[in-house]
Amino acid sequence: MKHAIVKVFRMKSEDLHKALSLIDARRNNITKLVSDLIKIRSINPPGDMQEIATFIEELLKNEGFSVNRVEPEHGKISLITSVGKGKPELVFNGHMDVVPSGDVSKWRYDPFSGVIVDEYIYGRGASDMKGGLGALIQAFLITSKFENKLNGKLTLVLVPDEETGGLLGTKYLVDNNIVVGDAVIIGEPTGLDYIDIGQKGSLWLKLKFRGKSIHGSLAPYLGDNAIIKAYRTITELYNITKLKANPPDDIKYIIDTSTNVADSLIGLRGIGELILKHPTLNVGIIKGGSKINMVPDYCEVDVDIRIPIGLTSRDVVEEIRKILEKYEGEVEVISISEANYTSPYHKLVETVEETIELVISKKPRIFVQWASSDARYYRVKGIPTIHYGPAEVEGIHGYNERVKAEDVIKASKVYLITALKFLESI
Ligand SMILES: [Zn+2]
Repeated sequence: MKHAIVKVFRMKSEDLHKALSLIDARRNNITKLVSDLIKIRSINPPGDMQEIATFIEELLKNEGFSVNRVEPEHGKISLITSVGKGKPELVFNGHMDVVPSGDVSKWRYDPFSGVIVDEYIYGRGASDMKGGLGALIQAFLITSKFENKLNGKLTLVLVPDEETGGLLGTKYLVDNNIVVGDAVIIGEPTGLDYIDIGQKGSLWLKLKFRGKSIHGSLAPYLGDNAIIKAYRTITELYNITKLKANPPDDIKYIIDTSTNVADSLIGLRGIGELILKHPTLNVGIIKGGSKINMVPDYCEVDVDIRIPIGLTSRDVVEEIRKILEKYEGEVEVISISEANYTSPYHKLVETVEETIELVISKKPRIFVQWASSDARYYRVKGIPTIHYGPAEVEGIHGYNERVKAEDVIKASKVYLITALKFLESI
């Protein structure tokens, strides 16, 4: 690793220093861009991106780029623009939407002020992921200054809809071949010294139970109570959290070390082992019965199951079917995505790894995550994809979200140098 970095310096140290100094010269622009992005209320739901997309489109056009605007549904706008041509194609992907602010009185500063206090930029989306978004956009703009040296193409893809599943954003672009890349960096919050290369799968199911109604005064001796069937099923369903994953060799040790990362991020010792090596289960919605004095003849239960790398949805569904058979339940699949990851030995991961070490003088840790993201849509198509972005874990999807201005600038440096290296211009 060290050797590779020395090589970068020796090979084209002029270009490397020029690239880094171009970011330093734009420090205030980068910080201001993140602050301006936070000020735009791109809240999802409802997820209308008109204001933020128009703002970014204007910025890109003023810098001389032509921008492809894709809008499969009103307000669900994606922006795509490129520099360079041919292969390989590296994609910078970022989502423009943010989750709602929640109770505004619990925020120290207005969540849409983008205020900068003591080197931190505050507001909804600061970490997830307007910090990453600003850093990606600026790195893209600077990459264009090296256009005649690029051996390939860098494409900037800004999407809506990530916070509600990505169907009209990244998934739409990938499924319709509007975006096809050879490698993808998503600026999701990881913190500067972490690279996230894998996500769990998710399996959302609706379990349905039918029974026979009768007057409540005759229960439990007559009739057939659908709620009781659901209750017994739910109790047994937790057995699936004991299923153990058997991950492939190239990712096994990463999962082992990720359990410690999860422990410290969540602040609970041992949780990493549970959530990264086994399925998790949340019983989210239950509906059943219509009157207190009637035995209910119908009940349905929505469950959210997350599947670790090394188990498939088929393995889990098989177990659930066995339980449902006992209680005469049926299952309807709401959605499925399999666990997915990019090999830690892929050139993309190695390039980002050595670039991070160069920029922050610390060897990054590679880990896999327990949640899911837009990365799966690229990985399903065989496109290597990682998450890397500036972050303060506290406040993401909560209150007082913030990001360190210096971290945004450093992330922008990592994006820029990675692009130049991946496209073999330095
Ligand atoms: Zn995000």
